Amino acid sequence: MKPQLSELNDKYENLTYLDRLKALFEEFDPEKILVTTSFGGSSVVLLHLINKVAPRHPIHLIDTGYLFKETHRYKEQLISQFDLNIVDVKPRRSSHEFTNKYRVWEGHSDFCCFINKVEPMNELKKGKDIWISGLLRFQNANRADKKLFERSNELLKFHPIIDMGPEDLNLYRTIYELPTHPLQYEGYGSIGCVHCTKKGKGREGRWQGQEKSECGLHV
Ligand code: SF4
Repeated sequence: MKPQLSELNDKYENLTYLDRLKALFEEFDPEKILVTTSFGGSSVVLLHLINKVAPRHPIHLIDTGYLFKETHRYKEQLISQFDLNIVDVKPRRSSHEFTNKYRVWEGHSDFCCFINKVEPMNELKKGKDIWISGLLRFQNANRADKKLFERSNELLKFHPIIDMGPEDLNLYRTIYELPTHPLQYEGYGSIGCVHCTKKGKGREGRWQGQEKSECGLHV
């Protein structure tokens, strides 16, 4: 029988971040657990926690083809430091090339995100029961009310560090001496694609000048 959402939220709410992940990997078939990362500014915390609980568990990066070269370098650094098992996931080539040729991000960013992020993600979700991601409540209004577990069609979503604040993240990174994304030193609070990321606090540099605040993966 599938566990009820409310039961899961109650059960995991008072656990530590690490114990939440331990409990999840005991409760669910690891083969059915999908993990994604963006290698953005705060990703390293979830990656570090997962690595303690399930080392070498596949961690998927949706590589839109528009990531910063610094993000690729940061990825390689974390792979080598923590022996991560990173799986790059790419959009369909012809669709991606279409977005590049027509600079679709300039006038139709939702469509560009759909092609380069949402569509490859939909493929990844097939056959999985649960999807772990590193969303944080403080990042924007859309995320402010999110719970640890939520349902997304047939899939369960799990946000084990959703209630971490900026201080918690900094403390965790300091305690474990985790490397910082190089663009954070240059004033980027949040790091996505080259075409849609500017310097700024928090997520204010993402899709600047647009209503858009999410790529579509988490709405
Ligand atoms: S963030 Fe920008 S460049 Fe990246 S997929 Fe979305 S619209 Fe395209």
